[in-house]
Amino acid sequence: MDDLGRYDAIVLGAGVIGASTAWHLVQAGLSVALVDAEGPAAAASGASDGAVSVASKKPGPLARLATASLLYTRNLAADGPLMHGYHPRPTYIFGSGPAEGAAIDALIAKLDALGDAVRLRRDGAADLLPGTGASVERLVELTGEGHMPGYVAVAGYLRDPRIVKIWPARVRGLEETDAGVIVDLGTRRLHASRVIAALGVSTTTLFPQMPVIPRAGQLFVTDRGAPGALPGALTSAAYLLAKTTDMTALPRPPVVIDPLSTGQYLIGSTREDHADPGRVDFATLQKLMTRAAETWPALRNRRVIRAFAGVRAAVSDGLPIVGLAPGSTRVTLATGFEGDGICLSAVIGREVARMAADEAPTPALSGDLAALAPTRFTALQEGAA
Ligand SMILES: Cc1cc2nc3c(=O)[nH]c(=O)nc-3n(C[C@H](O)[C@H](O)[C@H](O)COP(=O)(O)OP(=O)(O)OC[C@H]3O[C@@H](n4cnc5c(N)ncnc54)[C@H](O)[C@@H]3O)c2cc1C
Repeated sequence: MDDLGRYDAIVLGAGVIGASTAWHLVQAGLSVALVDAEGPAAAASGASDGAVSVASKKPGPLARLATASLLYTRNLAADGPLMHGYHPRPTYIFGSGPAEGAAIDALIAKLDALGDAVRLRRDGAADLLPGTGASVERLVELTGEGHMPGYVAVAGYLRDPRIVKIWPARVRGLEETDAGVIVDLGTRRLHASRVIAALGVSTTTLFPQMPVIPRAGQLFVTDRGAPGALPGALTSAAYLLAKTTDMTALPRPPVVIDPLSTGQYLIGSTREDHADPGRVDFATLQKLMTRAAETWPALRNRRVIRAFAGVRAAVSDGLPIVGLAPGSTRVTLATGFEGDGICLSAVIGREVARMAADEAPTPALSGDLAALAPTRFTALQEGAA
């Protein structure tokens, strides 16, 4: 077997989490290799929407980490790797009917607990935003959030030439020794003091004990038109409900209409429990299209030019998995970000890099990061045995 070299740290997976982690590690002066089975943003990070949204997060660790990540993303966009990736824009949450109205009330109650990062600007009828359809009964405008396509963020991090990029190279296994970790690539191998596994939904191929579940999402993109008519994302309150309720039980399909800087609209996305990124079906998309056009009637003049599906890595308890792999002192897992990985990537990359460099976490986040530790599952399994 050929030896490809030795590094302080090897990051497995060049999605947005792995790319952010690799970038933060090289800023700390470590030698870093980033390995991917296919290439950068080959999985969820290249097939997703890019809402950097605090409003849509579950209260608790996730919402607090998302708030910290939003603030840090703004810094990295001001003069760092996300300069061309992140665009601030308002979020409009709309609803029809009592359940969606209640979801909006719950959202407003949550915002105060998150400090000043995201603010309610206006709350009222749909005429706050000229152009919405008659089915929109209530609309609130939030300021402070933004949009960042995952593949653009990955490209931004990978511009750092100090990251050694190795792909296509599928990791077959890891062997931990007293001296470090051997990464087996089949006919070749790499060595490192620390390994960070940011493998998304493929985590279970190397760590079968981690309860990561595939959850696909279909999206579609329209043709171009004059940009600017819709100043920010139009997000249905059903989308907030879909985070905790089976989508098929909702009266209307959850929809997010995201205006892109190209003048196109990116519209999504479903939540379906399967692992096939190629499965796009017309009946489901048609429901999304109908709801999108009812909400923003200008879409009736647009053509759909592309439909695709990505696969989120969901976790049975709804929280990501971040920390040392059970039984390991050298391998850190960073996975299970479901529909929140783009938003969380800046802070998670920074904090995982700190863990791998044996530094303490940022004090204000240490409790929330501890809640994501992979050992929470081994404790459950031992309790059940
Ligand atoms: C439809 C949809 C909409 C979404 N919308 C949003 C949104 O609006 N906002 C938001 O914040 N998040 C959103 N997400 C979630 C977000 O895309 C993910 O949480 C995020 O991209 C996960 O990044 P990752 O780096 O953990 O994983 P991935 O991007 O899945 O990267 C994992 C990488 O590991 C590589 N890999 C796998 N196995 C191996 C192996 N054995 N060896 C080497 N490499 C391997 C893969 O090739 C891949 O490149 C959405 C996701 C979907 C699917």
